[in-house]
Amino acid sequence: MKNILLHICCAPDACIPVPDLIAEGWNVYGFFYGSNIHPHDEYIRRLEAVKVVAEHNAITCELPDYRPGEWLEGVKGLESEPEGGLRCAECFRIQLEAAACEAVRLGCEYACTTLTISPHKNVSLINAIGEEICARHGLKWLARVWRKNNGFLRSVRMSKEMGLYRQNYCGCVFSLRKDA
Ligand code: SF4
Repeated sequence: MKNILLHICCAPDACIPVPDLIAEGWNVYGFFYGSNIHPHDEYIRRLEAVKVVAEHNAITCELPDYRPGEWLEGVKGLESEPEGGLRCAECFRIQLEAAACEAVRLGCEYACTTLTISPHKNVSLINAIGEEICARHGLKWLARVWRKNNGFLRSVRMSKEMGLYRQNYCGCVFSLRKDA
């Protein structure tokens, strides 16, 4: 069985990729970055929901410390970018870089992300960033587009069935702005 590190952006987006990968025969390790989330209360709500998904699917999920200052430093200069712009590309890089480091530490050969289940995200960009980071770390990137085949609708249905917390903004302090 091959080991894969699945970068989890949030619980609702993970509730389809996790069981689908398990059904395909992967040994799945979850990884929730979380330091992009603002404010702290919101981070805790999303963290608890991720734990529910991990427990429901009997996987382990790595939960690094909450370090919003490091994330803010990483996107410095890009604060005024609109959602979907350069700040988000850097945010994906920061998260997937952390995920790749964790994959190496855990001895996984592959990495993947739940980010591509969202209808709002640039999946080509996300998979290109994942490929580049994995190549640098000696990993293989599993380029999935989870929103295909009604993936997003399935995730909405499943997260409601599971009673998961569903956020109404992407996550960072800048995505709380009305014009973001
Ligand atoms: S809007 Fe979402 S993807 Fe973009 S920088 Fe903020 S948290 Fe990251």
